Amino acid sequence: MARHYFWLLLLSGFAVWQAYQIPSWPLGWQALLDYAPYAVAAIGVFVSLLLNRMQPVFLLVNLLLVVFLMSDLVPLPLNSTAQALRFPLVSLLIPINILLWILLPERGVKHHAYNLFLTGLLVLQGVGIYWMMQNLSFETVQFLAKPVSTDLDSPFKMPMLSTVVMLVVANLMIIRLAMMRKARVLDQVALFVLILVAVGLNNAAQYGLLNWLITIAALMIVLSVVFDTHQIAYTDELTGMAGRRALFESFMGLGRRYSIAMIDIDHFKKFNDTYGHDIGDLVLRTVSKVLNQVGSGGKAYRFGGEEFTVVFTNKTPEQARPILDELRKQVEATDLRFKHKNQDTSTKVTVSIGVAEKTADIKSPEEVVKAADQALYQAKEMGRNRVVVSGDPAEKVIKRGQKSARIRKRKS
Ligand code: GH3
Ligand code: MG
Ligand code: MG
Repeated sequence: MARHYFWLLLLSGFAVWQAYQIPSWPLGWQALLDYAPYAVAAIGVFVSLLLNRMQPVFLLVNLLLVVFLMSDLVPLPLNSTAQALRFPLVSLLIPINILLWILLPERGVKHHAYNLFLTGLLVLQGVGIYWMMQNLSFETVQFLAKPVSTDLDSPFKMPMLSTVVMLVVANLMIIRLAMMRKARVLDQVALFVLILVAVGLNNAAQYGLLNWLITIAALMIVLSVVFDTHQIAYTDELTGMAGRRALFESFMGLGRRYSIAMIDIDHFKKFNDTYGHDIGDLVLRTVSKVLNQVGSGGKAYRFGGEEFTVVFTNKTPEQARPILDELRKQVEATDLRFKHKNQDTSTKVTVSIGVAEKTADIKSPEEVVKAADQALYQAKEMGRNRVVVSGDPAEKVIKRGQKSARIRKRKS
């Protein structure tokens, strides 16, 4: 699983560092901050809708509401309950909302009833805020707005209650991330968005600071949507390894020398028939884990079904052969343990491998794949659980008739 904390930390660090430099920015740049959050969020909403994602849309809209509600907040002293309440309520609701938009399931753009419900939640908050501004007693307002520190130089100017809620929400997010097996980039980004918003709200009095930090937060959300959809498109769902689309994408960047290996699980059908599809899937995941450890300039992909591909850049098949043979042995040595008919069962699988390289006759990666596939079927003919190099004269010992029968059978 790709962890994105490094660049998120870097970007957040940069954002916070620059936030305090804003007063020394050229005036033209400072003026841009009035519009920047709206511009970036608009792009984000557009990209999200295009990619059928509503969670980021609600996150972005919510961030814009914060920018909007805080934009014309007059500095102290505040002369009405309404003004006194806006900051405490915004800073109280935003952490809760960020968590909410991340926790509520993604149902896509077309689920109108669900999206109406989510919009309703936002509107309800608006109504709630309005009601509170009109009706809360002075004591309650004071409680909600009581700051962490009254010292003007203190970096913590948010109300006590909001600060506590933010810390609780941040901890919940961290715990959730730690427990998740497959965190999306959006899940990881949400935590950093919360941190940026917290810094922004604590320094909301500084011109442009909140807008700047929310602009970066919105940018992170846009990037996360792009990363997450990229991940979905290029990763094989079942095994978590790179998928067929990623393989063909990699073909574009291949140099003048490369080898491609095709790997097929032996007697997988029988395995599926005996133990069922779920155990078959377990086998696929186990084999993919072994293949993913290929290293030495090789990269593994799931080609489809029970077939895998390893691409070696800058390696001849003869150089790749020992590496592949090591993988084959590792698969053979791996114990598969599972419950079958309430019995603890342990078994093994083997793989056959064919490998070919780019030559004068075999020019395109697709043709190399085909040649590797033919070598693979030679490996099957020769008794499986072995590596065969395409065009290796020592391997051409199989009976021609059998080979073509097999290829014919495969095509049918
Ligand atoms: P050989 O040693 O000649 O390769 O025999 P085989 O049985 O492995 O070969 P074959 O290609 O005939 O069988 C492939 C089987 O893989 C067919 C299908 O049931 C199974 N299969 C393909 N994709 C999946 C999958 O995603 N999950 C599971 N569980 N089975 C799959
Ligand atoms: Mg097969
Ligand atoms: Mg097979």
